[in-house]
Amino acid sequence: MSAHIIDGKQIASQLLDDIKSSIDQRLKSGKRAPCLAVVLVGDDPASAIYVRNKQIACEKVGIVSKAHKLPSSISQTELFSLIQQLNQDPSTDGILVQSPLPHHIDETAILALIDPAKDVDGFHPYNIGLLAVRQPQLRSCTPYGVIKMLQASGINLKGLDAVVVGVSNHVGRPMGLELLLAGCTVTSCHRHTKDLAAHLLRADIVVAAAGKAGLIKGEWIKPGAIVVDIGINRLPDGKLAGDVEFEVAKQRAAYITPVPGGVGPMTVATLMENTLKALELREQK
Ligand code: NAD
Repeated sequence: MSAHIIDGKQIASQLLDDIKSSIDQRLKSGKRAPCLAVVLVGDDPASAIYVRNKQIACEKVGIVSKAHKLPSSISQTELFSLIQQLNQDPSTDGILVQSPLPHHIDETAILALIDPAKDVDGFHPYNIGLLAVRQPQLRSCTPYGVIKMLQASGINLKGLDAVVVGVSNHVGRPMGLELLLAGCTVTSCHRHTKDLAAHLLRADIVVAAAGKAGLIKGEWIKPGAIVVDIGINRLPDGKLAGDVEFEVAKQRAAYITPVPGGVGPMTVATLMENTLKALELREQK
């Protein structure tokens, strides 16, 4: 058996087309385009690439993006006042603070300061809480992107045994909540999990978000399972790889996502969707 490879790039491109149509429609009816403020602190090359990709997506769908590039020497107080200014600016619909932030800045405090109505990354405790109580509004981009990708692939998640590997606040935890919302029976594994293989061998769907290349062995995949690899790891040869041993896993799984070209493009597309949604929700108030 060889798995169906889920083409995240293609699904994301379709989603971007739909978002563009909605924005075109807004403009035709005299409404304004959504606006995303992107805050980039320091000169981490990977962050610069992520921010650039998000700006390209904005251009594609017709979202105005405003970049705030700040030196790594910026103080927490200065960053606080920029966020407060963006919170109050009526023409800013979404605020994205690219992580990682320099060590002297308290990232949790910065993210908590963002107005939840403009929290298009879906990281604010209020938005995570809404997801936990089954009233999601602005949903964490990567987990929400995974759900949209699985839906677009015609996969029914109801009743499936799901195992998420990784429990970070931005990825693994909201992923577990999304799968629960979708009707799965969810197990969350992490660095203290005693027998990862035993959990994975029972999983109808595996979502890997540990950030460890090759952590998930191909032979741990239950035949016919769905495998979603969120991990992005840079190998010594410079190539990108996920957390799953792709070549072996694909011989056992029914569906599998590649890295790159799987979850990554969905994350950017759901960020665009959230930015449009943030504007629409504020207009309804
Ligand atoms: P993180 O380091 O904050 O969290 C990693 C999680 O993995 C932790 O909860 C930890 O307990 C768990 N873990 C680590 N080693 C483990 C082990 N041996 N067994 C079981 N669990 C283990 O990372 P993160 O921010 O959640 O990101 C995870 C990965 O997802 C990274 O590779 C990151 O680059 C990638 N990522 C991808 C996208 C995307 O769009 N595709 C978006 C965000 C993050």
